[in-house]
Amino acid sequence: MEKLSNFIDGTYCPPVSGSYIDNYEPATGKVYCHIPDSDDKDVEQAVKAAETAFPVWSAMSAEKRGEILVKLSEGIRSRMDEFVAAESRDNGKPISLAASVDIPRAISNFHFFATAIEHFASESHYMEGLGVNYTVRKPLGIVGCISPWNLPLYLFSWKIAPALAAGNCVIAKPSEITPYTAYLLGKVAQEAGLPAGVLNILHGLGGKVGDAIVKHPKIKAISFTGGTKTGEYIARTAAPMFKKLSLELGGKNPNIIFADCDFDEMIKTTIRSSFANQGQICLCGSRIFVERAIYDKFKTVFVEKIAKSKVSNPEDPEANLGAVVSKPHMEKVLSYVELAKEEGGTILTGGERVLLEGDYSEGYYIRPTVIEGLAYDCRTNQEEIFGPVVTITPFDTEEEVLMMANSTMYGLAATLWTSDLQRAHRMADKIQSGIVWINSWLVRDLRTPFGGVKASGVGREGGWEALRFFTEPKNVFVKY
Ligand code: NDP
Repeated sequence: MEKLSNFIDGTYCPPVSGSYIDNYEPATGKVYCHIPDSDDKDVEQAVKAAETAFPVWSAMSAEKRGEILVKLSEGIRSRMDEFVAAESRDNGKPISLAASVDIPRAISNFHFFATAIEHFASESHYMEGLGVNYTVRKPLGIVGCISPWNLPLYLFSWKIAPALAAGNCVIAKPSEITPYTAYLLGKVAQEAGLPAGVLNILHGLGGKVGDAIVKHPKIKAISFTGGTKTGEYIARTAAPMFKKLSLELGGKNPNIIFADCDFDEMIKTTIRSSFANQGQICLCGSRIFVERAIYDKFKTVFVEKIAKSKVSNPEDPEANLGAVVSKPHMEKVLSYVELAKEEGGTILTGGERVLLEGDYSEGYYIRPTVIEGLAYDCRTNQEEIFGPVVTITPFDTEEEVLMMANSTMYGLAATLWTSDLQRAHRMADKIQSGIVWINSWLVRDLRTPFGGVKASGVGREGGWEALRFFTEPKNVFVKY
């Protein structure tokens, strides 16, 4: 069976310990490769390589670094089919989704930051009669990038690209559950001519190699995307070391639907915003609030369409939903369906595991699930489920729905459906979240700030925000 390797100092190498972990294919429930069980010794090797590479990489012109990153982007494009197949196999997502969202976005991430760095300028502040301040922004040095399993290469590259563009050397760890496309990225980096040691990719367990990255004194910043509990732990560990931290964490996003919306457009998008990637996108709207005047109509149409969704193996071109990422995750999601029943909810459709046939009989499939009749403040409506499960709740007034929407500990994203422009602005202003979509969902401009408030995280990614995070400003004052 295939064994993946770490990518350190420009070459593939086995973990120092010689130990490996099983990697499961969610579609079949079977182990299909082994990944390095890396630890602090591998981190040490990667840090040494990065330390050697940093003076050369950081001194290279932004234009030259950008050229290499464009090649990296093109390198992924030229291996599109290989990356798409690997992402779908590793994660369980339909191949059509990996081909239309995940891999194209990873290509864009590298391309975007490769060119953005050439336009990144710092400020100068003139002081009347006294002199002038100018601010330089220098790379931090060695930075750690840790990403989750739901959008593997998409989120991995969203961190790595700005870090590299800004002149840092990177030690990166993908989720141990979805390591494959990160593994392939090493080959592309070699082909693109990325100098050895600039990008180091380590595989293994979060609590072991991830923790060693967070704790390493020479790693100056941690850019982390994952669960809120892990984020809390990372903050507790890294903050006393005065590391810069960017934490993109969980969500429990509201999708608020007013009676005056474009109903057909809303239904089409709400199906996606509820169940795309099996509901495993941090931006999915898992709490759907519907104005009472159209609640019954919404319920009938939505449930009828969802009940017809095809749950199938990821290679089926007609699959609307593939497998969820792992057995423990499937069990967690299904346990929330049981909790919802205990809390008085009614399952309108779904609520169970789907057993496919043949090779896929042990895969982790869940029927998309719609639940009603729950209090806004029950656990099902407050805790992140991160699977194909949504709740629907009627509301009467703006005040009421705002109160319910803002009632969770999270504040990542929100979606609003209305044709009343004033109401849209009024609501957007009062919703506690880092991102608001009006009459749309998941429209992403890579220049905009991305991130959440409350327990959804600290800091922002995207555009200048990311380049500012991965650089340290130094102000210089010159007296006349
Ligand atoms: P986890 O927090 O479990 O893991 C995220 C990453 O951190 C993985 O690479 C994991 O490794 C690693 N990790 C785990 N423990 C540690 C540790 N102690 N020190 C360092 N690294 C560690 O999240 P999931 O992978 O389960 O991802 C799902 C979560 O991510 C959801 O809560 C979701 O909302 C959130 N998310 C947030 C987004 C945002 O932009 N705000 C976007 C996408 C997802 P390993 O896999 O080996 O455990």
